[in-house]
Amino acid sequence: MSPGTVWFVGAGPGDPDLITVKGRDLIARAGAILFAGSLVNEAATRWAPAGCEIADSKGMTLEQIAAWLIARAAAHQTVVRLQTGDPALYGTLIEVVQPLDAVGVPVAVVPGVSSAMASAAAAVVSFTLPEVTQTTIFTRVAGRTPMPEGESLRELAAHRCTLCIFLSITLLHKVEAGLREAGWPDDAPVLVVHKASWPGEERIVRGTLATIKQLCREGGIVSQAMVIASPTLGARGWPELAKSKLYDAAFTHRFRRASV
Ligand code: SAH
Repeated sequence: MSPGTVWFVGAGPGDPDLITVKGRDLIARAGAILFAGSLVNEAATRWAPAGCEIADSKGMTLEQIAAWLIARAAAHQTVVRLQTGDPALYGTLIEVVQPLDAVGVPVAVVPGVSSAMASAAAAVVSFTLPEVTQTTIFTRVAGRTPMPEGESLRELAAHRCTLCIFLSITLLHKVEAGLREAGWPDDAPVLVVHKASWPGEERIVRGTLATIKQLCREGGIVSQAMVIASPTLGARGWPELAKSKLYDAAFTHRFRRASV
């Protein structure tokens, strides 16, 4: 019998409703599901069929995860590896795909809503604004995982674009130092979203470079949080906003002629 497929499915940021329809349908016909314990809301497994084998990978090593998936793919047509947010960001996608490739188990990936996007949604923020910034960087500061050459926050922040800083809520002193070294002023707005999209648990902290660490400490926010530094923060209240060309009456594009 040919092996089943191992689907790496983005579970989304926490709200079980934020999984894709495709991801939910795969769960609904999965023979086995291995979820990444720490952040994936267990409710995401609520669509699993009766008899589906469901396990948490929290206590497993990489070898055990791969062995578990390979064994289940031998028995089931559909095996799901459920990951937080989108599998392409700060997950273990490639290191788990490699051993599956090595034994010829087919793999496929279903994208998910990243916590970066859920954090923007929670705070009604746009990462891009015309004439302010047209670029967003997904990054982190060095913890146990070092930052590669050229990717220090000082260097990235020099672009003055939007920075979504993952995995760094306990390292706010490093975030602060990097932004300062890049010349961001004390009053630069900084946003922290804790448990973005988690029903009843989401918290939003709005501060500045000078205040955000203290505000998070006072709020007891020490995990599962996105740090966003961006020149677009606060734009909702700006009286003068450069508008997108798309809806500009003087701008012609494929779907509409200029009317002025
Ligand atoms: N693949 C995931 C990221 C995993 S790394 C994604 O696309 O979102 C884990 C980090 O993601 C955490 O340290 C935190 O910075 C962020 N994170 C994950 N879920 C979050 C949530 N619901 N709210 C805020 N940040 C979250």
